[in-house]
Amino acid sequence: MKLQSLLKQSVVVVLFSLTQLAAHAESEFGQQFEKIKLAASDEQLYQLLYEMPKGGDLHSHSSGSGYSEWWYEQALAASKQGYVYHTRIKTNNCRDYGHQAYKGAAPYYLMFYTITSASLASLPTCEQAEFKPLAELDAKERAAWENSIRLDKPYEGRDEFFQTHWQRLGDLDANPYVTAEIVYLNLKAFGDEGLLYLEPQLTLQGYQRPDGSTFSPSEAASIITGRLSRQDALDTGMTWRFQEAILRFLPNAEESLETTYKIVAENEDWVAVNMVGREDDDKGHPLRFLETLRKLRQQYHGVKLSIHAGEVDEPNFHIRDTLLLGADRIGHGVNLINDPETLREMRHGPYLVEVNLISNLLLEYVDDYSQHPFPEYLRIGVPVALSTDDRGMWDSTLTDEFYVAVREFNLSWTEIKLLSRNSISFAFLPEDVKNELLATYDKRIAGFERRISRKGVAALNKKSAPKRGFICTRYELCGI
Ligand SMILES: [Zn+2]
Repeated sequence: MKLQSLLKQSVVVVLFSLTQLAAHAESEFGQQFEKIKLAASDEQLYQLLYEMPKGGDLHSHSSGSGYSEWWYEQALAASKQGYVYHTRIKTNNCRDYGHQAYKGAAPYYLMFYTITSASLASLPTCEQAEFKPLAELDAKERAAWENSIRLDKPYEGRDEFFQTHWQRLGDLDANPYVTAEIVYLNLKAFGDEGLLYLEPQLTLQGYQRPDGSTFSPSEAASIITGRLSRQDALDTGMTWRFQEAILRFLPNAEESLETTYKIVAENEDWVAVNMVGREDDDKGHPLRFLETLRKLRQQYHGVKLSIHAGEVDEPNFHIRDTLLLGADRIGHGVNLINDPETLREMRHGPYLVEVNLISNLLLEYVDDYSQHPFPEYLRIGVPVALSTDDRGMWDSTLTDEFYVAVREFNLSWTEIKLLSRNSISFAFLPEDVKNELLATYDKRIAGFERRISRKGVAALNKKSAPKRGFICTRYELCGI
């Protein structure tokens, strides 16, 4: 017992000395932050990171960032626009064995597959009986529905996410009014977390009316931007721009890329093109798009590219090839660590890696954080920023990403500020808007430092920061 306590004490002394050493390069507040990390409880550190002013989120999918309860509430609220949703709560074995496909998108047996009344009417009677109106789910069914689009079980991982979550959303994900509300709710929630800027990825292609007919991209755009021009959205104080995303592995991805490029070139609120979809599907490999992009660049100007690359287990040259495509930002970049040439060239370079720590863990691109290359990128000078990817499905927040980064990688205050400034500096915004946001961030963070430097964590609000599932279960921060 004595030996243990002695050992514990020496560990604290060693840690403290190391911290002192590391803090030499830090500002006065940076040195205070080193002490806070050692002395504060987990709850206090989380509270500090929640209240801390932040920059932007440069990697957030509009659909994946909707929390389950938002989806449910917005699905019901969409009855105002004439949408009535039904979800599969049982199967009656209506199909011949071996015939599982449904419209080529979701497998027949998929529970909580959600569709409109128009889609329901097109099904055979036997299958119609498998569905229940979403508005009529009992408490148990509603909880199960909400769980079905949340990646929160140890046995759920990459396949659950890529092959069932999106498919379950079904027609709900093709409703521009629901999308607009979810973007608004995100602006509000991110604003509450101290962010200034959001650049969600969405697609304007394929939105549907209640009867199944399709909205044009410009009709969908005006529904979404119309919603965001309302007072409650302006009150969030957030600046936003959109990226138009395409699924890279589909057979018609080149054609889709051309439409996407045109949308961005012609709509000032849409600033960039992104290519998404699981990278272990080789059909979407980067160089497939080189010729199309070169053709498009002959015609259009001002279209930026941020592309998912390196979100894969195997070593490959997807990041190198994606830079050749013209991308200024790389989404994830997990396997950049396995491509030394490109890694070296990206040091202190003009390209940013959008790092998604929680996503990478839950989708099994790392088994634990000791495998994550983020600290290596950060500390050899590759520009990086933290982002949330599909936080609705992880049930997490940007504060959680900072908490993970501080806890797992011992971030300094200088590093925290660099991450936040990067998330504005690398935004696809005009220089004057960017400079304004940077000035606001600098002012806010200086004010925060003054507040904390006087009284330490005692200066934090008494009202506890809201916490969601990921941080509650993984870091046991919710006192359960
Ligand atoms: Zn992503």
